[in-house]
Amino acid sequence: MVAICHSRPDGDAIGSLLGWHALCGHYGISSLPISPDTVPDFLTFLPGSASIVVPRSEDLQGPDGPLQGADLVVLLDFSRRNRCGEELSQAINRLTCPIWCIDHHPEPETFDALFHRTSASSTCELLAGLIQGDCPADAAQCLMTGLLTDTGRFQYALSPNTFEIAAALLKSDLDYRALTDRLFEQESLEALRLRGFILKDKLVQHPELPLAWIEINFEESQALGLKPGATEGWVNFGLSIQGNRAAFLFHEKEAGVTRISFRSKQGIEVNGFAEKYFNGGGHKYAAGGRFDSHCQDTVQFFMERVGEIFTFSL
Ligand code: 5GP
Ligand code: MN
Repeated sequence: MVAICHSRPDGDAIGSLLGWHALCGHYGISSLPISPDTVPDFLTFLPGSASIVVPRSEDLQGPDGPLQGADLVVLLDFSRRNRCGEELSQAINRLTCPIWCIDHHPEPETFDALFHRTSASSTCELLAGLIQGDCPADAAQCLMTGLLTDTGRFQYALSPNTFEIAAALLKSDLDYRALTDRLFEQESLEALRLRGFILKDKLVQHPELPLAWIEINFEESQALGLKPGATEGWVNFGLSIQGNRAAFLFHEKEAGVTRISFRSKQGIEVNGFAEKYFNGGGHKYAAGGRFDSHCQDTVQFFMERVGEIFTFSL
């Protein structure tokens, strides 16, 4: 069996991938965890991380790729096949084995089996809810990671069930304090100072609308040496400014391709906007997308239209 998470994986993607992998191990089922992109540095400590396969393009096109011989494929934390990249999604489409999906993003595609709740804070919450009896400590560590990261440390997208699941995970042998320490308190001094620079020099408040943004063009991205996951959480800075209801991060990782992170609150929804103009989507209050242009042009195009998100709800 093969388990796959989405591109540019976050804490819930890797948490659910490795949580699933650990549970499979616990129940004596062999599984191969696959991520379309490298595991961000801050998650490599999770148990099983070293066993994650990041397929090369040539492996996905050839006959001996990591999906060959799979008797079951489980997609975790995404439910639209293109969210794992073009090559991997094409390889999935060529398979004849059953494809299952466990996810909490809106508007899932059809699968042989689909376990899906948009009301869940995270895919890890859904997975943890399936466990009967005690949860092994390695799985609990991974699943709690998804809960912590997708909820912004128990701040967003919560329901009573989220806390019930968290309580059940705490009853395992999980060392919660050690986990939060690894996830949130192991930043290098350099990375912390970089956040200071971003806050001081790069965070821009819109002169009229209740929103703020950060833009990092390709030259800046290169000069700062931003690695995958380095900008994690930065989009939230603008949302924490008093009065703001939306915040955005524009990051031109490759020259001429700008990734955008969208966050909002208080009834302002961003996933439709991400889908309409930026080839993206996600949750109402947390979405992502891209624009095939340089950062400056992307921001200009964006700001000419962003008023739309406030049209019905200001
Ligand atoms: P982030 O801004 O952290 O990259 O993504 C925020 C949320 O939007 C996550 O739930 C993520 O799964 C979703 N998301 C990010 N990028 C995309 C995208 O390109 N397409 C879609 N449909 N969802 C995305
Ligand atoms: Mn998620």
